Amino acid sequence: MTDRMPTAFVGHGNPMNALGGPLAERWRAWGESLPRPDAILVVSAHFERHPPTLSSTTDAPLVYDFFGFPDEMYRLTYAPPGAPGVADAVERLLGPELTVDRDETRGLDHGAWVPLMHLSPGADVPVVQLSIPWTDDPVEMLALGGRLAPLRDDGVLVLGSGNLVHNLRRVDWHDGQTPSWAADFDAWVAEALEAGRAPDLAGYRRHELASTAHPTHEHFVPVLVAAAAAGDDSPSFPVEGFELGSVSARSVQFGLS
Ligand code: ZN
Repeated sequence: MTDRMPTAFVGHGNPMNALGGPLAERWRAWGESLPRPDAILVVSAHFERHPPTLSSTTDAPLVYDFFGFPDEMYRLTYAPPGAPGVADAVERLLGPELTVDRDETRGLDHGAWVPLMHLSPGADVPVVQLSIPWTDDPVEMLALGGRLAPLRDDGVLVLGSGNLVHNLRRVDWHDGQTPSWAADFDAWVAEALEAGRAPDLAGYRRHELASTAHPTHEHFVPVLVAAAAAGDDSPSFPVEGFELGSVSARSVQFGLS
């Protein structure tokens, strides 16, 4: 009998975090504080595909899905085992209503491997990714998370990866002061999670700052999956703050804290 795993959302931010720095150090400490999962299922902002698609079920090369970064970034490696058994379980949990595709040739994208290099630095915990099938439908994303909840009893860490505030047109590469719109939206999301109003977050696009905080939605919706898979488990925030001025670095752990 495996203890029920928490669920989590990591604010992955700048790909350069792969190389270390303050955020990487906090991820490392957070990872050390978590129970060791038997496997990790990642729902990353950088994998949008319908129907729901499982990737990295077996070994496949990393995806270097960022441009204009130093050469060393494209030579980094992170090669955990795949998790075909978890992929089978996801298929069972989503079916028969949903057909689930597989893409065995797609490796981990940077929304997965950059934080995992620090959260699970031994690269010895199997990892599989599930695509975001409904970027524009937060209600469906919540439902998806709810259906993944039983994985927690099998020792699987359901990990959303995105950012609670993410507007690439507003980033400040010199890490300047955080603008109030970013701080306010980040705080609003945190308060809703703490108050157990995760289902209300499905209506986040009606917030007056939503279109500034999220001109596109792929970096927000992974938190809905983690929150819904968590059920009534309370959130805590192992990482808070911002990078690049306005990109929220907030990470959330639901349960076991
Ligand atoms: Zn990203």
